Amino acid sequence: MTDSLLDLAPAAAREKIVAWTAERGLPGYRADQINRRLWTSPVGSWSEATELPAPLRDALEADWPLPRLAVASLETSADGTRKFLWRLADGEAIESVLIPSGARRTLCISSQAGCALGCVFCATGRMGFRRNLTPAEIAGQVREIILRDPTDRPTNIVFMGMGEPLLNWPAVDVALTILNDPAGFGIGARHITVSTVGILPGMEALRARPEQFRLAISLHAARSDTRLGLMPIEKKYSLGAVLTEAKRFGRRVTFEYVMIAGTNDRDEDADRLARLAQPLGAHVNLLPLHPGGAPGLAPSSGNRMRAFAGRLQSAGVEAVIRRSRGLDINAACGQLYVEMEKKRRPSPTAPAR
Ligand code: SAH
Ligand code: SF4
Repeated sequence: MTDSLLDLAPAAAREKIVAWTAERGLPGYRADQINRRLWTSPVGSWSEATELPAPLRDALEADWPLPRLAVASLETSADGTRKFLWRLADGEAIESVLIPSGARRTLCISSQAGCALGCVFCATGRMGFRRNLTPAEIAGQVREIILRDPTDRPTNIVFMGMGEPLLNWPAVDVALTILNDPAGFGIGARHITVSTVGILPGMEALRARPEQFRLAISLHAARSDTRLGLMPIEKKYSLGAVLTEAKRFGRRVTFEYVMIAGTNDRDEDADRLARLAQPLGAHVNLLPLHPGGAPGLAPSSGNRMRAFAGRLQSAGVEAVIRRSRGLDINAACGQLYVEMEKKRRPSPTAPAR
């Protein structure tokens, strides 16, 4: 099967369209008209591209149908945060969260359905891994929101929804181009953040890109043993190795640190974290643990978080306590979870019939 045009970086899609229009003896400007409808001025289906003659629209619909994500549900939080649940063509479901803040609209997008990494505090981790998303499904989360209402166009993108983006690098690589390219969504690379637990090959691949995409590293502990208790991936990509790659990254990185009472929130943890972050000039985001993602774990108190942030700051580390958004609709980081119908895929432990 041919790739969808929406699975291709804009330049590659353009080549296909140019060849396709040339084959049909269409004037050159048609390729530009068609191309614009993919990302810069998107249509939900070719029938909406009324600047094109009807037979051309039909031919496009036949040869290059535009895949869509169906909205399965949309919830709005008291703080204006909106959570979209998308149903994919094969029945899988993923979520995106749109977080307005003044003139900024940050969209938190998913890169996988579920996640294989099983961090103990994360609801997505409990879903297990379902599958990788395609470029069209990743960038499509932005596209669908613009199609619904162009005034919702996101100004910032964070890969902090479901999944580990750097374990789906081939698709994320293309999606980053679509997001950033002026022939795509034209969102500045500095406004696009990839969040990872520290998948080293993926970090190297991201570093190799010339654009200034931002990198956030989910650290969550300043000691390897504590981290291993929270994040099984520590066994494969250890704290030390991740920090070495963070140094190589060459641009300023952000450390994400979910604060869990009695686990990683002591003064001693802050001091260790400061010693890791300070030489890198890393910025630290302290996230309140959302208990929704973590039965059995308790969030650190507000006082503890402020004391922890204070210790980091007095050690010369830029640290901020991130506000929780969309808590009332379970839209916050680590709370994204889609209950799948059990009947479609029996669990591997289910007795054979
Ligand atoms: N897999 C990537 C990106 C998606 S998770 C990663 O882990 O970085 C996005 C962020 O949500 C991560 O920083 C993750 O640690 C955080 N998160 C997960 N569960 C959480 C919870 N229960 N409370 C607060 N943040 C959580
Ligand atoms: Fe996966 Fe990130 Fe959740 Fe860990 S925190 S289970 S890597 S989505």
